[in-house]
Amino acid sequence: MAVFTFDGSTETASADATITYTVGPTAGNPIFDLRQDITQAWLDSGLFPIAQLAHHNFGAVPFTDLRVIEAAQAAGSVHTLRVQYDLALPNSQLEGSYLPALEWSAGPKLRFVFGLSDLNRARYAEAWLPVNMVFDQHSINLDVQIINTTAAHSVITNGVVTNQGLNHWQISFPARSSSFSPLLEVRAADTLAQQTDTVLLPVSGKTVTIEAWKPTSSMVSLTAQINNIKTLLADNENDYGAYLHDDRFVAFFNGTGGMEYEGGTTTSPGALLHETFHSWFARGVKPASQADGWWDEGFTTFHDDGADDVIPFDFSDPPVLLCSRDPWQRHTPSNAYTDGSNFWKGMASLLGVSNLNLLMGDLYDTHKGNPVSTQMIEEFLLSSGEAQVVDAFHRFVYGLSDPSPAPDLWIKDDPAHGGADQWEGTFWDSPDLWVRNADDEGTDHQSPEYGQDNWFQARVRNKAGAGEAEHFVVTFHSRDFASTQFIYPADFLPCITAKAEFDLAPNDTRIVKALWPRELVPPAGSHTCLLASVITRGDDPVASRHVWEHNNLAQKNLTIVDLLPDTFMILPIVIANWRRESDPMFDLEVWKPRTAAGVNLSLIHRSKEFFRSAKAEVKRFKPEFNKPTLPPEQIRLDCGGYIPGPPNVDKGRIMTSDTADLVLRRFPDSWEARIPESVRAKIAVEIPPFTQKVVGLKVALSAQAKGAQSLKVHFVQRQSATQQIVGGVAVQVNMGMRT
Ligand SMILES: [Zn+2]
Repeated sequence: MAVFTFDGSTETASADATITYTVGPTAGNPIFDLRQDITQAWLDSGLFPIAQLAHHNFGAVPFTDLRVIEAAQAAGSVHTLRVQYDLALPNSQLEGSYLPALEWSAGPKLRFVFGLSDLNRARYAEAWLPVNMVFDQHSINLDVQIINTTAAHSVITNGVVTNQGLNHWQISFPARSSSFSPLLEVRAADTLAQQTDTVLLPVSGKTVTIEAWKPTSSMVSLTAQINNIKTLLADNENDYGAYLHDDRFVAFFNGTGGMEYEGGTTTSPGALLHETFHSWFARGVKPASQADGWWDEGFTTFHDDGADDVIPFDFSDPPVLLCSRDPWQRHTPSNAYTDGSNFWKGMASLLGVSNLNLLMGDLYDTHKGNPVSTQMIEEFLLSSGEAQVVDAFHRFVYGLSDPSPAPDLWIKDDPAHGGADQWEGTFWDSPDLWVRNADDEGTDHQSPEYGQDNWFQARVRNKAGAGEAEHFVVTFHSRDFASTQFIYPADFLPCITAKAEFDLAPNDTRIVKALWPRELVPPAGSHTCLLASVITRGDDPVASRHVWEHNNLAQKNLTIVDLLPDTFMILPIVIANWRRESDPMFDLEVWKPRTAAGVNLSLIHRSKEFFRSAKAEVKRFKPEFNKPTLPPEQIRLDCGGYIPGPPNVDKGRIMTSDTADLVLRRFPDSWEARIPESVRAKIAVEIPPFTQKVVGLKVALSAQAKGAQSLKVHFVQRQSATQQIVGGVAVQVNMGMRT
């Protein structure tokens, strides 16, 4: 909240501003900026020495300094800072075509211009108001008054204006605003011409009022420009999604050049297309920091050129730095327009023009109103399925050259795995890949909880003696069925999510976390196979490899089931043979610990022929179902939530001794082969090339399965001829436990 008072008699102006803020997750001395000279300050209502709000250098170049509140404050604590200052031209980089102004002329008449700029430092709202850097979102409320003049003034703003009387306004900006949001000009009313009209937008269905202004001396036709704006707003909605900025669009045709605001612009007719589009990209989805400012200028310029130019990347071109990752950067780099739009033309080549535009529409819909970092865009585009996105960001956004020597990133397949690509041991229960129900530091796998956000986590290692990984991305995916064989890239990409990281030194490890959004977590009872890959320039996973054939790949095929005595569950597992040269004979092995008393394992298939090669006792599958009085939460898979699916729908329901309908629909007239009592039992089966089959792994507890204990059963598919294990699934049985 700030009060600006302009006094026509003295031709001076003063400000009284109060910010309420919450300290972030780390205790310390908060930062903010204000490019005016503070005369008086209060912290939490006590007087506070101005010297303890001084500027300190954060960057190496002018206008990258910030004020530090020299008071140690606890993490999460809430404070109020009030500052008073005389308004004057700000101590900012005063370059460019649209400058801040505070001028008086005869009348007395005021011309007051916020004059924000991307390309010049310290030129957002900090020029006039105490604010944080651009990532921070907050409402802004201004009380603006001109006293001691009879000349009527007008305000041009994208904020909501409430007239308080002659030359007195309250102006509010929404909670999603940040320091680059507010458009504000105050000018004598007789120096301005204004016209308004409305347009009904095609996607949002909103009627938006277009408010167009110009200096009276301007030759611009506001009627013609309003018609242009109508077309542009409708086009942008059709191409990228619903207009965000309530029901107004404000355009001030103030001369040459242009600057974008949320639902507004100061512009020339020539820049109107560009600046209007920025209400989608730049001030709809917004750069999370000024180092991220390249993507909105680049994509807007790509759009100015028709959003259809395709220029393939040439990796012999020198690296291009667009995103410095300097958190203290205070300007958009000037190559954002040229190199930035070329980057998007390269992306259009890689992903396809229409696909790229659709993806950017998705990005806009998902994040509109909120900050979006460069890494978030990389993760989003990579998740759509093209691994080369990582190479493109590496060289043409982060400005990194090809690593030499190359890094060797890997994820353990098994506690004993030493990092070789080819690994002969178990690989379907990676100790380096897990799920957490909260964004915490735990490293034990938790069952994904339906109906809430979960977090994928992977521990990534860079081998000793390899090169540094300056930039890498981990992809996370989950398949909603149990299967023994997964192949890169088809089973890994597209993926649910990905996480970009930087600077992993040789012999170092990093735990990488990514949000598993609640709407993508499968319903109760779905089995999930987690799949992760790590991609970095110079060390990509090789196509057509299995997890056990490449160290950049990992999987966790772990189902956790709670079982009571005298109950059973059946996990349907896909077993496949996708290799032409492969011998069709496989051993299906079931490994269990010696201590597994009272646990009976069998395989179920609809055809007796399936068990032809098996040296096992095969009989008709005649399950005994429990009384329907058992509470349904007694048996639950690891991915289980608590919201049951609608009755008679298979999706999200587990096959158990409680669900006769499910079991009998999936395995009608089926055959059951008892797995011999052995620590490593095997059953031979034939899977012809290019075939997959689905076998049910039945885990039954007898009445003797007493006492609470947990045991892990592994289902393994092994090629008989080569003895190579090609896939596996693990089931953790929690006996007699309730969770
Ligand atoms: Zn621009």
